[in-house]
Amino acid sequence: MRYIEPHGHMVSRTTDDYQDMVTAGCAAVCEPAFWAGFDRSSADGFHDYFCQLTEYEPKRAAKFGLPHFSWLCINPKESEDLALAKDVIGIIPQFLGRPNVLGIGEIGLNKNSRNEMKVLEMHVDLAARHDQLILVHTPHLEDKLKGTRLILDVLRADKRIRPERCIIDHVEEHTIQLVLDAGFWAGMTLYPESKCSPARAIDMLDLFSHERIWMNSACDWGVSIPLAVPRTALEMKRRGWPVDLIDKVVYRNPIEFLSQCPKFKLP
Ligand SMILES: [Zn+2]
Repeated sequence: MRYIEPHGHMVSRTTDDYQDMVTAGCAAVCEPAFWAGFDRSSADGFHDYFCQLTEYEPKRAAKFGLPHFSWLCINPKESEDLALAKDVIGIIPQFLGRPNVLGIGEIGLNKNSRNEMKVLEMHVDLAARHDQLILVHTPHLEDKLKGTRLILDVLRADKRIRPERCIIDHVEEHTIQLVLDAGFWAGMTLYPESKCSPARAIDMLDLFSHERIWMNSACDWGVSIPLAVPRTALEMKRRGWPVDLIDKVVYRNPIEFLSQCPKFKLP
């Protein structure tokens, strides 16, 4: 098997996870900037985090033969402080030219608040000005449908943004169609407890589409499974999916989306 892990927060994983992923056939891992589990107290904290994502973590992954790419932003969970958000967005451009940076993400909404909306618009403007791909986090549970609608409205309102260059992540049964119909890519996050189980993800692939869609583990410091993508591929096989179609969903689709950034290249 070969697959891409398009959304993994590797800074919070161990070297065993890297080894297991490579053993399972992982050909590249992409790491969006996210909440550290605690609020950072200054833009300097983000500066150091961006250095970690663009310097240290690619080197750590390379020790296991795994290409590592990253996305940069201030996470929606830390977007309530507008002054901090402005400072952080101000330092991002100095990192955009780094060889493993694919775009702006994971931006989006958490509680659908007014300040989160403002910071989302600032990120979308940043991406448009620098011609960057966009990776979007959608809110959890009861806020998801409303949040997804708000996010799509913000993206569609900016005429510089091309939907085929944006992926809306953590889609579920009630948001996937909305995202695909509007021309965006959709990401399904395979979590053991929330978001989307492997069985639900495969049901969605059966019901909706296997075009413009990828799956990820979003593995981080919480309860999550770094091997969720290959395990789901095994479950697809058990359910009778043709090998070529499984390969498309777990390998060729993410490559198709990510290759829109010329820096995404596999060795
Ligand atoms: Zn994430």
